[in-house]
Amino acid sequence: MIIETELNAGDRLLLAEATEGFLPAEIVDIHVHVMEPSSYAPATLGPHLNQRTITPESYREAMEMILPGGRLKEALYFPFPARDHDRTAINRWMYGRIAGQGGPVRGRGLAIAGPRDDPGPIAEAMADGRCVGLKPYHLYAKAGDTSQAALEEFAPEWMWRMCDRHGAILMLHLVRTEAVSDAGNREALLRLGAKYPHCQVVLAHVARAFNHRTARGLQALAGLPNMWVDTSAIAESEGIRTAIEILGPGRVIYGSDYPISHLRGRCVTVGNQFLWLYAEESKAPGMTLVGIESLLALRGACRQLNLGRAEIEGIFRGNAQRILAEYRR
Ligand SMILES: [Zn+2]
Repeated sequence: MIIETELNAGDRLLLAEATEGFLPAEIVDIHVHVMEPSSYAPATLGPHLNQRTITPESYREAMEMILPGGRLKEALYFPFPARDHDRTAINRWMYGRIAGQGGPVRGRGLAIAGPRDDPGPIAEAMADGRCVGLKPYHLYAKAGDTSQAALEEFAPEWMWRMCDRHGAILMLHLVRTEAVSDAGNREALLRLGAKYPHCQVVLAHVARAFNHRTARGLQALAGLPNMWVDTSAIAESEGIRTAIEILGPGRVIYGSDYPISHLRGRCVTVGNQFLWLYAEESKAPGMTLVGIESLLALRGACRQLNLGRAEIEGIFRGNAQRILAEYRR
């Protein structure tokens, strides 16, 4: 896989189809990864990410390619998750980069956190505004296969409690085959979401609906106002449409998932699973970037539901601003 730095003619046509007359003048991106290679253990990242540094500045430059015209106004950053990395060090590095950033794009950060990490440094960062929430990840739960981990194995109650205290964001990438349609995930989200009503839960990738059929499980969570989804890396309009229908357009937030947005490929629903296709590994010609596919899917969902300008602007900016405004020191 390659993180693309240029568009080809086919990409440009698709990007025009995805964006012209659709993209608002101002955009907030709720799902952005930064990284700094010295905090990652060897061979825990693919070769496309290995030894790469992504800063707020390099992200902003790269995003101009798919969100042209200086539209990007604000971003929420968190370190790219990987096994066995020094979470304290990379969080600290990120806080410094965010504090030192200049230019027109405002940035805030989420701390990556493992279930057995010392909550102390993260609590301090959340109390003084260096981070506005947490990003747990299933890989931090235990050694071996974590694809079927229970939610609380990687997002235990102390994380919910800490976010609740600050109105902070808990960015969750669900696992298990059925994602939000999994009975265990649903039970945990309902219970903890109700117990910690100020914890603002963003279910990344439309509650990880890489298989769009699983998005129907959002129905059970519709009554909890602190449950949101981001659209990052989702390339099928069905899942986004389901989320808008169930949660309403006010709780769906645009996210790029940079640098994943700049890989050439997409994820597709296959039976009751999903499959990531990448140009370098596939015989299908003409693939475009994940980020362009995702904008096409979002546009398709908005069109199918006849969303108005205000609702579309909400997905690209206003909803993110509302959730970020919940945070207090
Ligand atoms: Zn991501």
